[in-house]
Amino acid sequence: MIAVTHVPELNILRVKEDGLEIGASVTLTELVETLKQCIAQRDAHETSACSGFVEQLRWFAESQIRNFASVGGNICTASPISDLNPLWMASRAQFNIIDCKGSVRTVFAREFFKGYRKVDLRSEELLLSVFLPFTRPGEYVKEFKQAHRRDDDIALVNAGMRVFLEQKDDAWSVVDASLVYGGVAPVSLSAVKTEAFLKGKPWTLQTLQGALQVLQHDIIITENDPRGMVEFRRSLTTSFFFKFFLWISYNIQQKTQVFLGFPDSYKSAVDPYTRPSSKGVQNYECPPNGTTVGLPVVHLSAKLQQKMCLVVMILDL
Ligand SMILES: Cc1cc2nc3c(=O)[nH]c(=O)nc-3n(C[C@H](O)[C@H](O)[C@H](O)COP(=O)(O)OP(=O)(O)OC[C@H]3O[C@@H](n4cnc5c(N)ncnc54)[C@H](O)[C@@H]3O)c2cc1C
Repeated sequence: MIAVTHVPELNILRVKEDGLEIGASVTLTELVETLKQCIAQRDAHETSACSGFVEQLRWFAESQIRNFASVGGNICTASPISDLNPLWMASRAQFNIIDCKGSVRTVFAREFFKGYRKVDLRSEELLLSVFLPFTRPGEYVKEFKQAHRRDDDIALVNAGMRVFLEQKDDAWSVVDASLVYGGVAPVSLSAVKTEAFLKGKPWTLQTLQGALQVLQHDIIITENDPRGMVEFRRSLTTSFFFKFFLWISYNIQQKTQVFLGFPDSYKSAVDPYTRPSSKGVQNYECPPNGTTVGLPVVHLSAKLQQKMCLVVMILDL
């Protein structure tokens, strides 16, 4: 048996000209650090996908898990509620797969997930690395996750979305788009009809309305869905797309000063969620003299308990 976490070839993390090569055993914490370096060092238009992953990983489990869980483990376990798989798929990531003879083949993340916990891996193969391409000018990637709680909770619905826009004068149109949802089916699911609808369309309110109509019939959560909360989860699929559309429109409005139809009053819908560290103060009244209640006095039996513990430990040994 081989611990894949210790195989050097599976632990590479290489920043290339056109993207990032990430070994399958790289931990999620290491991944975040490298993504943050890329965001700090490269042009903003190149790192839209990097930012999506950093934001999604902020709400992924907590640091003990992220310090240990690997990129490849999260991918190959193919959870239908994985927070990262929709993002790999949406951001045009490629998976490099190696077999026991050393031959490497490459598949798009979009084609890797075949069904519930089923992936495109043969018994003699393993995931070697992931290639995450940098985004192009006009290309935007964004993450979404809604759970009962922000911290350390399973997504009710999550998503990774990407759109590539081209500009002609003061108008933008969609070259291509990827909308991938998690938590809505046995596998991370692309909204293929909506993607096709968006292709070639101008980036306008009309297109938004049309896409929302198509999306409702594209991602279907049935009444008897085992994960429940059907109405709410259905509404999340469309509201994520609405937020995505708003977010890009504000980005464009801010960069170019061209008004795309969204007033400032909608902006809070896309402001990133931040929460400062919790803090608290408690005031105790000093008890009157003559009682030890509330004073830092060692309990009489404390030393006895300590001795008992020592005896138990010695007996154990
Ligand atoms: C408390 C807790 C909170 C969590 N929160 C989240 C969350 O918020 N979001 C989320 O998406 N997930 C969450 N998870 C799931 C977690 O992220 C995954 O279980 C984890 O990423 C798996 O990584 P691992 O390295 O431990 O994989 P392992 O458990 O070691 O592997 C998983 C599977 O993949 C296979 N595998 C591993 N590496 C390779 C490879 N290179 N090639 C082929 N097969 C491989 C293994 O054989 C195994 O079948 C949570 C888990 C816990 C315990």
